[in-house]
Amino acid sequence: MNTPNKNWEIPGYLESIDNHLHINGIDVRKLADEFGTPLFVYSKPRIKHNINQLKEIQNKINRKLKICYAAKAMSTLGILRVIKECDSDLEVNSGGELYKALKCGFAGDQIVFNGTSKEEWELELAIKSEIYAIQVDSVYELGLIDQVAKRLNKKARVSLRIVPEIETATHSGLKTALLTSKFGMLKSEVFQAAEVFGKSENLNICGVHLHIGSQNPDPETFAAALATLFETAAEMIQHKGTKLDHINLGGGFPVDYLKGVEVANTIARAQAELLSSCYSPSDAIHSAYKKALSFVNDAGFSEDIINYLNKLELLIEPGRFIIADAGTCLTSIRNHKSRPIDKSSQQVGHNEDLWLLTDAGFNILLSMETYKWYYHTIAATKADMSHNTRYKIAGPLCDGGDVYFDIEGENRLPDYRLLPDGMQSGDLLALLNCGAYSLSQASQYNGRPLPAVVLTDDDKKYTLIRRRETLEDLISADL
Ligand code: PLP
Repeated sequence: MNTPNKNWEIPGYLESIDNHLHINGIDVRKLADEFGTPLFVYSKPRIKHNINQLKEIQNKINRKLKICYAAKAMSTLGILRVIKECDSDLEVNSGGELYKALKCGFAGDQIVFNGTSKEEWELELAIKSEIYAIQVDSVYELGLIDQVAKRLNKKARVSLRIVPEIETATHSGLKTALLTSKFGMLKSEVFQAAEVFGKSENLNICGVHLHIGSQNPDPETFAAALATLFETAAEMIQHKGTKLDHINLGGGFPVDYLKGVEVANTIARAQAELLSSCYSPSDAIHSAYKKALSFVNDAGFSEDIINYLNKLELLIEPGRFIIADAGTCLTSIRNHKSRPIDKSSQQVGHNEDLWLLTDAGFNILLSMETYKWYYHTIAATKADMSHNTRYKIAGPLCDGGDVYFDIEGENRLPDYRLLPDGMQSGDLLALLNCGAYSLSQASQYNGRPLPAVVLTDDDKKYTLIRRRETLEDLISADL
């Protein structure tokens, strides 16, 4: 037997024991048998580990840091409770996520609220809950917040979102900092907002915010981002007399989805580079911070302004980095078949395609379709066997595009997945690094109830934190 590439193993967390994948010491076969598939399995120790890595940032830059986990990445209550237990705060993107946060016991001052199209009821909930900051997307929206706060006889804390025009090499659908994007305000609008609303009794303009993009492969961009935040904060106080208490750098720390597996040679280079992006957030922010400080020192600001900038709290909003590699999706092969391949593309020793049809499609892994996201696939009960046979894998949906390869033929996903010989119906697969933007984007498309979620812990403990939806759930809102 060839030695399989098991670069994905993480001792104590994700490992193969006696041929079976184990998560925190628990055999995934046992979990699949008990709870069915598809099944999301999240690891509490891994979430803690990831948050602890982010806490390093504070030690390195010696500045007050507020970590606001981006709830959009995964917001099942059981996960939000773990986030809270790890002393992380929260970024929400809707009244719905705010509702969930409050249900989990997050205090108002632990929450920031982003979004381009906020509704009045959402603003009301945020203002009544006295959240840390509503992140304002336009001058118009700031006026709306002012009115709502006035009506409630409250003072809303707001942070102004800048569109900083910082380019990064992430997927175009994940870039959020360019003028061509839909987010935030021009610097001129930020100053206009401070001019018009700086003296409102119902608003406290207390921060500036930006977010470069998700799975940001370019750590250098954080230097430009921090410099923009410092410069804006300085100009706000110099010219408008608006005194802030924080700057917010957004999220975007990347996750290595390829983990050195051979697939990197079989997909387009830019996609492989993006999916294998990897750097330490604390090193990246440390280095960016030093550059931004030297910018501040060279900018000719007065000593008072420099002292003021040095006291601003730094907020970050990581989602993917905290939750992606803490989640695994277990899926069963429900059908298999073989099919002769097109003679023109026939390769030596390969005259038919072996197809495996799973119960996990883009209904629960939407990024696999929209962004051609790669989730490394292993045979969960044959994990020690050599993964050297090529399979075409597809999900259960009625769309031809519900496949684990690039249906558009642009090589953004490998054409085949490598698994042990003889895979067939009944076998269990594990898709790794599935924790972010999967269940949170899932739908009941094709009449498929949403999967269950299990949380694993040390000492082989595990808990069901979201039950599998029932057929009744499919029609519960229908009148
Ligand atoms: N903050 C904002 C404003 C976002 O839009 C996002 C994601 O799109 C995030 C934070 C989280 O990004 P990530 O999950 O890449 O850390």
